[in-house]
Amino acid sequence: MSKEIPVKQVDPSEPSDGKPKTDTIELYASRKKIYAKEVTGLFQRIRTFSLLFLLGMYFLFVWLTLDGAPLIHFDLPAREFHLYGATFYPKDFILLSGMLIIAAFGLFFITTLFGRVWCGYTCPQTVWTFIFMWVEERIEGNRNKRMKLDKAPNSAQKVFKKSAKHTIWLIISLLTGLTFIGYFYPIRELIVDIFTFQANGWAYFWVAFFTVATYLNAGWMREQVCLYMCPYARFQSVMFDPNTRIVSYDPSRGEPRGARKKSVKPEEVGLGDCIDCGQCVQVCPTGIDIRDGLQYECIGCALCIDACDEIMDKMNYPRGLIRYTTENELEGKSSKLLRPRTFGYGAVLATMIGVVVFVIATRVPGQMDALRDRGALFSFNGQGNIENSYTLKIANMTEIPQTFSLSVEGLDGIRILTDTQVTIDSGENRSLPTVVDVSPEAIPQSNNEIIFHAQSETDASLKLETESRFVGPTQ
Ligand code: SF4
Ligand code: SF4
Repeated sequence: MSKEIPVKQVDPSEPSDGKPKTDTIELYASRKKIYAKEVTGLFQRIRTFSLLFLLGMYFLFVWLTLDGAPLIHFDLPAREFHLYGATFYPKDFILLSGMLIIAAFGLFFITTLFGRVWCGYTCPQTVWTFIFMWVEERIEGNRNKRMKLDKAPNSAQKVFKKSAKHTIWLIISLLTGLTFIGYFYPIRELIVDIFTFQANGWAYFWVAFFTVATYLNAGWMREQVCLYMCPYARFQSVMFDPNTRIVSYDPSRGEPRGARKKSVKPEEVGLGDCIDCGQCVQVCPTGIDIRDGLQYECIGCALCIDACDEIMDKMNYPRGLIRYTTENELEGKSSKLLRPRTFGYGAVLATMIGVVVFVIATRVPGQMDALRDRGALFSFNGQGNIENSYTLKIANMTEIPQTFSLSVEGLDGIRILTDTQVTIDSGENRSLPTVVDVSPEAIPQSNNEIIFHAQSETDASLKLETESRFVGPTQ
């Protein structure tokens, strides 16, 4: 059961009956629906391009294969991650960590230079919200029509429009959910299994989960996700400095704001360039007024720039009353692109990219381990040689089957008595019982270092090796 903490505003300056006057304040503010106006312009075109590009990659890549293997596939049961023709395993965790560090510092680096461009152009919340808003505009009409429709009593037309909008939102959400799970469960099988009711319960659960999450986040919660759920919005300001280029209103040019006729020059009426038309507020997807200065609610989408530029064009004023600029430039100072914090983030970013590229370039797509048979230290065979038994574990991390030739070295005449050729499927980790023998005269001490080799016959560059010990009688 939720508990409420009653909060009273106390005004001691106005006593009533000898007691301070009190007033109850609501700590919970219900959401005011934002009716963002559609706008066209340079930044909206850039966002449309980035949106189509990202959505195209998201919906297309899940279907693509390379040499018969999925281009991107996270096979959790097999603990394999297929990325652009390479297969990664849990032992490659260091690479994943490196990539996450690159992503984080890439974000910090860009944010320091250009503010919240990630939020404004590429964040999935922004991308899907803009698709949903586009659908809404096509079905319910422009901002004024949508406001009117919401206020109007229920009618057949209203029910039809609302149903159509929510149906399309749900279809987009379902496609999003299916695609997302398709990166973990082969998409072709997933589609067939889901619609023939043969998929397992978890597949239904996760598709439903991501469908509902997309529908609620992009359809209903929208800016609330950015304002109350996203931690990045809260700590982005620590990455800003007076040289960070962000969407800003130029008060020295715009103020004092005020309405005037197009034919009246601002200086004639003692006004700045802002005609107080409110267009920048009407297009804002988070419902803020950029003229109030930098606010954490601003996702840096630059729609207010497009809206204001359109007004400036109509008034025959120069564009850029709202523009990408820096605090320093607004104060008439010069801005620096390169500064200690950009160097710091840039240095970490460049180092991590170098490390990850090096690890990938030198990564051997296979692994071999030798486990000595703990049951018997050694035995003599019919030829009078000393035998040791091992289990060789060979993993093929390439995308094709590999035939390996096995050999051993380290002692004169040492040889493998069991199979010396083995074919291992792509992604397979095979355990091979292996027996090795050597003449007693070749053993200099009771415990000797030996090395197992596995040379691929399919790919000459794929060579695996592992060290082990060969045990004989005490000398
Ligand atoms: S769109 Fe431009 S002119 Fe209109 S209110 Fe905003 S800043 Fe002022
Ligand atoms: S003020 Fe609003 S419209 Fe302008 S960049 Fe920020 S979020 Fe976008």
